[in-house]
Amino acid sequence: MIAPETQTSIDYVISRVAEHFLNVMYFDGSRYLIAAGGLTLFLLVFRVWTANRRIQRTKSAKPGDYRREFLSSMRTVFVFGVTTLATLIGKETGVINFALEDAPWFTVAWQFALIVVVHDAYFYWIHRAMHSKRLFRATHLHHHKSRTPTPWTAYSFSTWEAALEAAYMPMFLIVTSLLGVTYAGFALFLFLWHMIIRNVMAHAGSELFPAGWVDNPLTDWISTTTHHDLHHSDRANYGFYFTWWDRWMGTEHPRYKEEFRRNAKPMVILRPRGSQPEETAKTA
Ligand SMILES: [Zn+2]
Ligand SMILES: [Zn+2]
Repeated sequence: MIAPETQTSIDYVISRVAEHFLNVMYFDGSRYLIAAGGLTLFLLVFRVWTANRRIQRTKSAKPGDYRREFLSSMRTVFVFGVTTLATLIGKETGVINFALEDAPWFTVAWQFALIVVVHDAYFYWIHRAMHSKRLFRATHLHHHKSRTPTPWTAYSFSTWEAALEAAYMPMFLIVTSLLGVTYAGFALFLFLWHMIIRNVMAHAGSELFPAGWVDNPLTDWISTTTHHDLHHSDRANYGFYFTWWDRWMGTEHPRYKEEFRRNAKPMVILRPRGSQPEETAKTA
């Protein structure tokens, strides 16, 4: 016979775990569907523009690729639910501090910037590690089955890679909590949306960034679709949001800028019928 107080705590644990799972499945699943679905729609609506900016001109993903990417992304969402139980346990035991109440905008801004910059470093190094001979097959081969990426490639991970990717959030929150920082829920919310949006953009297959991006020092440090597409077709370029780590570690693709300039066509001004369209800027 289980004592009533033990039963109550078991019930509490079950209800908290169930609530956590439902929240993660709903939030992560819908984030993926909205971001990948939204970008697919954009690519379809502006198909002339995107065809003109196609990165791998002669190749396209097959229906089987879309199926594999979608199904493994659903598995990734499930693995995210399991891995982030660490966040739930950390919060319940007081090891992790984050506050869902309103925070001043500057707190949200610096916390968002910090979590993105640290995530970029985390991603670069686990990505390099997953490309090592020892780990590649078990962890990262699945993601590279997509040689011609689509927005649906964003969460196409093996179980091990999904767990590694999801481990960042609880680890980051444990470290910052130990340092006495209480993270604002809204900064985490922004981070998660920024992450999936940049992720689907990196796998768009057509260059989404404006011409001149890699030739302007104000924007060159932000990575583009060509940057990650080259990683799928020809390796190099292991970074996520920024070009810093690849430049510091000498892993940037030697033809990155050249390829970007070829893909990112300048905007075109439509001229009256009968006359030729004119480019607003020269391709560098
Ligand atoms: Zn890779
Ligand atoms: Zn990728």
